[in-house]
Formats: sequence, structure tokens, C-alpha cells
Amino acid sequence: MQLHLPLETPQPVVAVHRRLRQAFGRRPEAPRLDPASQLIHGMLSVRTRGETSRKVFLRLRQRFPEWQGLEQASFETMWELIGEITLAEKYALHIPRAVQNIISLRGAFDLGFLRDWPVDSALQWLERLPGVGVKIAAATLNFSTLQKRVLVVDTHHLRIARRLKFVGPLASIEEASSLLERQLPADWDAGAFEEHHWLMKRLGQSFCTARGPACGQCPLRDLCAYSTVRSLKHTMP
Ligand code: SF4
Repeated sequence: MQLHLPLETPQPVVAVHRRLRQAFGRRPEAPRLDPASQLIHGMLSVRTRGETSRKVFLRLRQRFPEWQGLEQASFETMWELIGEITLAEKYALHIPRAVQNIISLRGAFDLGFLRDWPVDSALQWLERLPGVGVKIAAATLNFSTLQKRVLVVDTHHLRIARRLKFVGPLASIEEASSLLERQLPADWDAGAFEEHHWLMKRLGQSFCTARGPACGQCPLRDLCAYSTVRSLKHTMP
């Protein structure tokens, strides 16, 4: 991964990235899934803790080695296997249907063909599958062995971007994905995009949580518009 960070005043997003890397370190390397497996993992991860989604993913994979037969799995079978995830009812239906769609369109449950596609076309193709939104589609392209240059924005990332005023207060994940990606330096590669997502998620799980931000301890406190407004409110008579 190559990052060329300017020595002069950096763009806000670069300053944030640099500060978070100082606080949390570099993203640890982890084995990558093939894109079809990453798609399944992404669906299991929606609003679910990483530990739970990993456990459920392995259980599903063990029941359907190489994903053979997953397209024919009944709702009851899926429910039994994935019932622990937050949106189990939704994805017990959507996962087999998405696999069916891919097999009927491409002849196999294999997304390797997306490697040569432009990112926008690949995102659009994936988002037409049942249960696949922009975050799952982006994760399929960026986190998998495809390693495409696309930013993954989850709810942590969206909340922080709103507080930092990198996006508007009502921006959706779809709008934020495109707005935030345009703020990233042109010479960042797919690995830098992935690290940026990882750093923002770490911040969202530690200091900038949904329950309430701990601005006093946050490594971004002097860079953040939200923190500045809060401090002013506290110092006003
Ligand atoms: S300073 Fe506060 S609002 Fe800003 S990113 Fe940190 S925790 Fe979130």
C-alpha cells in the first residue's frame, strides 16, 4: 500500500487519517475472501457484531462446502444456521436468492468476472441482487481478493463523517459514500481506502460512539467541528 501524504497543510480527510493511524496503528493484514464468499460474509455482517458474523459464516460454509447447494437452502435451514445474526429473517431469504440470481446470470456462484469491470458498473450489478446495498457491494469489491478502489462506508463511518461535517447531517450512506470517496486523495490505492474504513470504524467503536461521543479523549478533538461546538457551548455563560 502506498500513501503519499503531503508535507504542507493536508486535506481534512488526510489529516484525520494520519491522526487515527497514530492513535490506532496500521490496519492488521488479514486473509482475504474470494468475492462470492465476501458477499455472503457482508450480508451476515449487517448490524451484527464481527465475532458473531464470523462464527455464523464459518457454520454456513461448513454446511455448504464451496457454497454448493446454498441456492436451494430452505428458509428453515437458513434460519437454523444464521438465526444469531441481527437480520436473520431477511437474509435467510435473501442469501439463497442472491446465489440463485448469480448462478442464473453467470452460470456459477463466482464473482471473479467483476475484476475487470469499472467500479461503478460492478457496484450497480451487485446492488441489483436481493439484500445487497451499497455497503455490502463496496465491501465485496474492496475487502475481497478483487481489492478494488472503492470506499466502504458503514454506520460508524457515516456518523463520524456527519459529526466532522465531511457530509451533511442528513446524508444517507449512499450519498455519503460518493461524497466521502471524492474527498480521498487521487493517489490512494485500494489498501489505503480499506485502511481508512478500518480507522473510522475503530474510532466509531471507541470514542465516537452512537450512544455519545467522548470528545475529551478523542484523537480528533482539535480537528472536529462537533467537538469545537460542544466546547463553546460548555464555556458560554
Ligand atoms: S471529537 Fe467527538 S464528535 Fe468529533 S470525532 Fe471525536 S468523538 Fe466524534
